[in-house]
Formats: sequence, C-alpha cells, structure tokens
Amino acid sequence: MDYDAIIIGGGPGGSTAGSTLAKAGKKVLILERERFPRFHVGESLIPYGNDVLREIGAWEKMEKSAFMEKLGAEFVLGNSKASIRILFGRYLKAGYAQTFQVERAKFDNLLLEHSGSLGCEIWQETKVKSATITDDGVTVSCDKDGTTRQVSARWIFDASGRDAFLGKQMQLPKTDLGLPKKFATFAHFKCVERNCFPDQGHITIVRLDFGWFWMIPLDAERTSVGLVQTLEHFKATGMSPGECFNHVVATTTELQRRMGKSERVNEFAFAGDYTYRHLQNAGPRWFLIGDAAGFIDPIFSSGVMLAIRSGNAAAKECIAADAKGTALSPRAQKRYTKHVGKMCQVFLNMIKMFYDNKAFEVFMDKNPPKGMEWAVNNLVAGNTRLGWRLRLHVWAFYAICAIQKRFELVPHLDLSDPAAAEPPAA
Ligand SMILES: Cc1cc2nc3c(=O)[nH]c(=O)nc-3n(C[C@H](O)[C@H](O)[C@H](O)COP(=O)(O)OP(=O)(O)OC[C@H]3O[C@@H](n4cnc5c(N)ncnc54)[C@H](O)[C@@H]3O)c2cc1C
Repeated sequence: MDYDAIIIGGGPGGSTAGSTLAKAGKKVLILERERFPRFHVGESLIPYGNDVLREIGAWEKMEKSAFMEKLGAEFVLGNSKASIRILFGRYLKAGYAQTFQVERAKFDNLLLEHSGSLGCEIWQETKVKSATITDDGVTVSCDKDGTTRQVSARWIFDASGRDAFLGKQMQLPKTDLGLPKKFATFAHFKCVERNCFPDQGHITIVRLDFGWFWMIPLDAERTSVGLVQTLEHFKATGMSPGECFNHVVATTTELQRRMGKSERVNEFAFAGDYTYRHLQNAGPRWFLIGDAAGFIDPIFSSGVMLAIRSGNAAAKECIAADAKGTALSPRAQKRYTKHVGKMCQVFLNMIKMFYDNKAFEVFMDKNPPKGMEWAVNNLVAGNTRLGWRLRLHVWAFYAICAIQKRFELVPHLDLSDPAAAEPPAA
C-alpha cells in the first residue's frame, strides 16, 4: 500500500482527520479538487469545535491570524420587535467562551497547511474519480496534472463535502430528515451596522416568517450576509436570487436598519441547502466525515464543528483499529455512526424548534428560568455532550416549547412586518 490513509477533500473535515492521523504517525495523502485558498460558504464557528482545534495544534495559529473574535450570537425578529443575545461566557468555561468568525478561504487554507506541517502529503487540483474498496484497503483513481493516477491505502476517508463522493458511489441509503428544501443567497458587504462591545463579533440571525438572514462580521469592514428561504418561497417570488435578496432587505425593518448604508463587495453566490444524513457513516475500511456524512440546515452554524469533530473521531477509530491490526469492526462502525448521528440530532432538534413559530417564542423569551438559559446557551455554543443535569434542562426547554403550542406560557411573537406592506423605498 502507498499510504495508511487517503482523504478525499481538504476542507475542515478532511484536514482535521489528516492532522489527527499524522500526529499518530500515519502516512496520509489528502486529495483536494481545488487550489487553496478557495472561497467556501460557512464562516461562523461555534465554541464546541475549539477543543479539537487545540488538540491538533491549529488553535494557536488561528489566534495569530486576526480572525474576528466571536463571543456569542444574537437572534432578532425581522420586524425588530424582539431580540435575544447569547454570551457564551455567561455559562461556559473559559475554553468555550469564545471562538472565531472566519473567512473560509483563509481558515480552510490554514487547516490544510497545518495538516501538511504535521506530515500529510497534499495533492491540490486533484479530483478523485473513483475508489475501489476491498477488505484490505482501497485503490483510488484521480486526475492530477492532466493524467489519471492510481494510489492505494488501507483506509479511505470521504470528506468531499456535499458532493458526498463515496455515499454516491456506494449508493448508501440516506434520509432527508423531513425538512423543506432551502435556497441560500449570500455575499460580502461593507458598512453593515455592527453591535457595540462586547457583542460586535456576534453572528446575527434575523428571523423572517419564510426563512432567515445571517450577518457574520468577518473583519473591521466586511460582513457576510446571507438569506436562507424555502425553495418553494423563492420560486414563488419569480425573482432572480439577487433581486429577491435585495427585495427582502428593502422590505424588512431590521435589515433596512442594519443594511441601509451597506455596499456589496463581491458577487452573489447561491447554495441549495438540502438537509440529508447517511444512515451508515463507516464501513470496514471507510469513513464519511463532515458534510459527506450529512448536511443540516446551517442556522446554528454547526457545519464546521461537525466536520472537525467527526474528522477527529473517525481518525481515532482508524488509529485504534490499526493498533489491533484489523479492519473497523461492525461494533466500531456502529459506534462512529451513532456518535455522528447523536451530534447531528442535537442540532436537528434546535432547527425544528427554530422553524416552529410557537417553540421559537420560548427560545426568544427575554426572561427564561436560569436552568433554561443555561441549556440554550450550551446548545447554541454547540455542546452535544450533554450530562444528565444539562439534559434535564434541555428536556424541560423542549417540553415548554411543546406546551406553548396549547397554552401561552411566554408572550406571543408577532412576525408580521409593516415594512413588507409598504412599497420598498426607491
Ligand atoms: C448557506 C450555507 C451557510 C453555512 N453557514 C455555516 C456557518 O455559518 N458555520 C458553519 O460551521 N457551517 C456553515 N455551513 C456548513 C459548512 O459550509 C460545511 O458544513 C462545512 O464546510 C463542511 O466541511 P467539510 O470539510 O465536510 O466539507 P467542505 O468544506 O465542503 O470541503 C470539501 C472539500 O472536498 C473537495 N472535493 C469535493 N469532491 C472532491 C473530489 N471528487 N476530489 C477531490 N476533492 C473533492 C472540495 O473541493 C472541498 O474543498 C453553511 C453551509 C451553507 C450551504
């Protein structure tokens, strides 16, 4: 075999798996289709990815890279009538009180170069075409420098993002998780109004009745702004994505306030956000990590954290199996699949809560009981390892969300926006 492991994709999932394996002395090849740095959507991190970034040794490099500090998150109604701010440090330990907003071109490049510094071999502008998996390992066929090359390894990690290379090739069963298809339109802007200290680095989520906006401060000047709406709603507008984005900004009170003087600095980009999850995330010689394992709606900025956590966990399963000199046992395959599924489920529950108007009223409550505030703070920070006390409070939160559907325990939220009724200002 040429390598211990081959990784398809050099995004956060692939480079984290590579770094974890290389630190354990494995010979790793990362195959990446693009030339980094390259643009990628998904710029807001959450703190429960920090420990993996520290473990692989990338955190210090991030601290030196002038990324915007993120201390929390803000949720606002489009009509400006209600808002909450979550400061991670209010309930979380020092290591989780802060994370970063990252321009993905720089962040992904930092992580990929880091894996190279630990010993991973990286072939960029190399597209994987096929992978033949046997009981002993894998042979990968890829296009590099205009020629087709064959490389072999004992393990293969699919970190190809939403391309889901292995999932498609192996026709692995998946579930669409029962959420409506979404469509996202996004760009970077200058002169978007910012919050004051200490909330200036918060992500702002503006809730509309048909979707939501994100605002992610990237540096002193630029803010990433994106509109996520149901595909159905977007199609019904009959507008182009850019026209629709501008129209929603012009007819939403909160967005007018924040973006009235803004200026777009790059072209609009688009993504069809189709939520899915593969039902099996590992086999005897293969792992699916990050988006290649599953993709969930990005409201709670979970994607990068899930990618790096699953990449790290998959690499550790591989290292443990290698120590025994075996393929991945059915038990370990199930354990890894369950681990990834459990992390996703925590966010899926939150996503379903977010789109449910009655449950969202509970989330937006300005004066929640302390235990519930603690639970929500942990969930928004991405804590998926819930101890029994926290689980109890999370359970109570969802119970109150369910009760709110029948009895008004917290004030009703009016989502209608007078700005939408008026013709947009010329
Ligand atoms: C609209 C939107 C907003 C989002 N916002 C956020 C956010 O705020 N915060 C957050 O954490 N997440 C967010 N996400 C999710 C986030 O973008 C992903 O979860 C994250 O990038 C997953 O990392 P990954 O390493 O699994 O895949 P990716 O980052 O997608 O990396 C996959 C890599 O594989 C390469 N590749 C693909 N196919 C091949 C092949 N055949 N051969 C070789 N290389 C290949 C690609 O070039 C790519 O570089 C958002 C997603 C969307 C759609």
